[in-house]
Amino acid sequence: MWIQRTPEEEAQWQQSAEQDARSHGLMIGILAWSFVVLALSAGWMVSFSTGVVVQRSFGGTFWMRLLIFGLLGSPVIFIARRAESRKALRKSRLRTICPKCDTAAEGNAGATCQCGGAFVPASTMKWVE
Ligand SMILES: [Zn+2]
Repeated sequence: MWIQRTPEEEAQWQQSAEQDARSHGLMIGILAWSFVVLALSAGWMVSFSTGVVVQRSFGGTFWMRLLIFGLLGSPVIFIARRAESRKALRKSRLRTICPKCDTAAEGNAGATCQCGGAFVPASTMKWVE
């Protein structure tokens, strides 16, 4: 059954949710960065007006460009990480549960469930056998 979390347990939940969100954000950040850096280093530019990928040479060898764009592009990691971890954290905070029938939902805390129960934020409840 679902029982109410103690304030300490709720704080713990917040902490682990933040940690999860941060590592998720970092992963997305690194993915975005490697994609951008590799594409630029290979000389691929997406022409936004036409939507086609065109090859453009920036001069230098591939590895030289990889190094330069890697450094120039590193803020991408931080920007994407911040945006993505905020998004992930917001999402986990929005998660709700109906303790009566075990239905999970999102962003409807306080709403009435089909079973007559009420949705509460998942952060305030925990499952015990
Ligand atoms: Zn319900």
